Amino acid sequence: MASEGGIRVSALPDRLRLLDEEGARGVLLGWRCRRCDEHFFGDVFLCRSCSDRDLEAVELGARGTLYSYTIVRVPPPGWKGEVPYALGQVELPKGPHVLCRVVDCPPERLRVGMALELTTEVATEDEEGTQSLVYAWRPAGGG
Ligand SMILES: [Zn+2]
Repeated sequence: MASEGGIRVSALPDRLRLLDEEGARGVLLGWRCRRCDEHFFGDVFLCRSCSDRDLEAVELGARGTLYSYTIVRVPPPGWKGEVPYALGQVELPKGPHVLCRVVDCPPERLRVGMALELTTEVATEDEEGTQSLVYAWRPAGGG
């Protein structure tokens, strides 16, 4: 079908679940400790708080606040995007921190504590047009 380009998939299916076919909206996935109720993001094999292994997969949502950030002027090898760009450490409501790009916001408007919402961007595209999406943050409310 010749709709709008190819299929869009999550490049990180254990961390990002897409919520629509366009992949414009997503939700972060993580873990919750059933024993102490701590939440985690990323590769976790036991609770970092109480060391219990009884973890369940949970959704961590699509909102966060900017905890810290840095402006990257020397990107990693192979980087094809814009430079400089903002790399944010974002705190989720459940507590975990997520490190990733902050987009749609000029560096001078970044403020620690600002509300952010999850967005997605295309990381790679294969010869069939299938696009792999990764998560990023942008100011909440399109601001
Ligand atoms: Zn625990």
